[in-house]
Amino acid sequence: MPRPVFRFAPSPNGLLHLGHARSVLLNAALAREGGGRLLLRIEDIDVERCRPAFEAAILEDLAWLGLDWERPVRRQSEHFADYESALARLDALGLVYPSFESRGDIRRAVAARPGWPGDPDGAPLFPFAREAMSEAERARRVAAGEPYALRLDMAQAVALTGPLGWQEVDAAAGTAQHVAAEPLAWGDVILARKGVPTAYHLAVVVDDALQGISHVVRGADLKAATSVHRVLQALLGLPAPLYTHHSLLLDAEGRKLSKSIGSQSLAALRAGGITPDEVRRRALEGLR
Ligand code: GLU
Repeated sequence: MPRPVFRFAPSPNGLLHLGHARSVLLNAALAREGGGRLLLRIEDIDVERCRPAFEAAILEDLAWLGLDWERPVRRQSEHFADYESALARLDALGLVYPSFESRGDIRRAVAARPGWPGDPDGAPLFPFAREAMSEAERARRVAAGEPYALRLDMAQAVALTGPLGWQEVDAAAGTAQHVAAEPLAWGDVILARKGVPTAYHLAVVVDDALQGISHVVRGADLKAATSVHRVLQALLGLPAPLYTHHSLLLDAEGRKLSKSIGSQSLAALRAGGITPDEVRRRALEGLR
């Protein structure tokens, strides 16, 4: 049996909090118990928000927690050529198109259509049809230097792949269950933007395959995105890892911990005198 391969894939756009500790400690425990490997991947494609200082802080937090990982660490910003070639393969299938609508355009279009559905993350589904603009007009606007997002034609993609699903492993029981993918709930997701050849979904799928990840263990907030990941894997001929989406830690108000609401960072807890053992206890509480 090949050794299982796990990964922790933080984005260096802020400090780690207890929710991240939960993910990385669960990955580390499962890797240890299964005789597997643990890889670290820095998901720094968002050049506006990612900072080397945050990456350094992440490495410091992980070392303080007593974790170890294989080197070299894969840093997504150093591998844009890999994402470009995956994007080119999807484009060759006729599944990629540039769209020019701003966030404001999308907001206004949706406001004019009461009841317009949202995607599983709560953002409005992209409300413009690919057929509403000719390919020639799209090409003209790209050539004119307009900003754009490259989108996946999800209906056509799903017509090509047929129904998909994945094996969801319960980390406590060790049992797996088939989950049916529902990619149409996401609409025409963004694969890349002008000047940056990838967005989250494409990079994560390409990297999980390139790094030979056999077990993806991450928070339940990313479970719905797995439907998009399965479509991209099927289109690109990439294997599907096993998935575990663990429950999220909530704060006293019942909100999931997040950088955006200023959840207390591991660095702040550490400065307050918390020990790595206490972080482990709080992070893994109720998980297994
Ligand atoms: N980079 C993502 C995040 O920090 C995690 C990606 C993943 O685990 O698939 O939320």
